[in-house]
Amino acid sequence: MDLDLPPEHELLRRTIRDFAANEVEPVVEEHERNRRFPTDVVARLGPMGLLGIPYPEEEGGAGLDTLAYAIAVEELSRVWGSLGIIVAAHTSLGCGPLHLAGTPEQKERFLVPMAQGRVLGAYGLTEPEAGSDSGGTRTAARHEDGPGAGSWVIDGRKRFITNAGQAGTYVITARTGARHDGSPEISAFIVEAGTPGFTVGRLEEKMGLHASATGELLFERCRVPAEQMLGGRGDGWKTFLKTLDGGRISIGAMAVGLAQAALDASVAYARERRQFGRPIGTFQGVAFMIADMATEIDAARAMVWRAAWLKDQGRDYALAAAEAKLFASEVAQRATNDGVQIHGGYGYVEEYKVERFLRDAKLTEIGEGTSQIQRLVIGRRVLGLKVV
Ligand SMILES: Cc1cc2nc3c(=O)[nH]c(=O)nc-3n(C[C@H](O)[C@H](O)[C@H](O)COP(=O)(O)OP(=O)(O)OC[C@H]3O[C@@H](n4cnc5c(N)ncnc54)[C@H](O)[C@@H]3O)c2cc1C
Repeated sequence: MDLDLPPEHELLRRTIRDFAANEVEPVVEEHERNRRFPTDVVARLGPMGLLGIPYPEEEGGAGLDTLAYAIAVEELSRVWGSLGIIVAAHTSLGCGPLHLAGTPEQKERFLVPMAQGRVLGAYGLTEPEAGSDSGGTRTAARHEDGPGAGSWVIDGRKRFITNAGQAGTYVITARTGARHDGSPEISAFIVEAGTPGFTVGRLEEKMGLHASATGELLFERCRVPAEQMLGGRGDGWKTFLKTLDGGRISIGAMAVGLAQAALDASVAYARERRQFGRPIGTFQGVAFMIADMATEIDAARAMVWRAAWLKDQGRDYALAAAEAKLFASEVAQRATNDGVQIHGGYGYVEEYKVERFLRDAKLTEIGEGTSQIQRLVIGRRVLGLKVV
């Protein structure tokens, strides 16, 4: 058993770490303060191969694996949570359903430009009345006959969609009918920005991740050709849930990056800040917080990497991904909270970055399934019972 990172992954980690420190870090504060989407930074990630890391080259990706992707998201999030979520939402959620369920034509037309980083992607599952209960989709699509296989006319709205207004391609779910047992038949569709009847509604003012865009998608008699149904009729929800299994690895990686950022800042501060004539890191009360942060971060990272490794082996990784996301997000919450505590009053002011890490980390306990939903998923798998 070899627990060292392979040399190519180590190199990738160092390359992204240098890029993030030298090219990204200097622009973070300005974008966060002005709640400005980092268009220029995102545009640079495409040519570096960082917007399609785990997808094969023929699909426009870098042809690397999930472990490489997890490392990239961790390193970017360590410097900038907003950039971490932009990349994760694009890669796992935007590209994921196309990779899983796209026809060769759909992959060529939509996935290749996305994975090459020329077009940003977004994933629309959540609705005002359908959050954790994502099968409660109210957005509906009605088939209309016409040339070829006809078209689908979509009506409804999505809420809290990352990359809203910035993406060029949106994959969304909509009801297309009912099944024999009365449950909704949910299908997936690809909708391009600028399609008549599709607009982006309000953008949220958030607690954290200020430079990322989160907003509403509004569909009013939005017509898409039948060729833009993604996967078979009624298969959309399944595709979207499978996409979330993979997405949880990247949210886990984002959480590890934010927790590590809090630890790095706290170690530097605890060595330098003096009270009672000595560095505060020499007080057991502070050193124990640092020790807990370091221990939990190591465990969280190992869980994220294990889930990524299982996925890369083609093994069942859904349980490992849910466990990794649950644990890493709660570690991030504790570590960033302790980071603020270790900084005392300086931790509470914007000049020191730890308060941003705390605000950004909260999202990892909510997005792509809250901690309660992860516990449901894990409980069902472990017990073999339908826990509700
Ligand atoms: C910044 C941000 C970015 C996001 N990006 C995207 C995106 O790109 N695409 C997308 O589709 N969605 C996105 N979301 C939506 C996110 O996935 C949902 O907010 C999340 O799934 C929770 O849904 P909800 O907000 O409706 O909360 P609710 O489902 O209403 O939950 C409220 C509370 O009830 C609890 N709860 C609900 N059901 C149960 C249950 N059965 N058992 C126990 N507790 C339960 C929850 O855990 C939570 O504590 C994003 C959200 C945010 C904040």
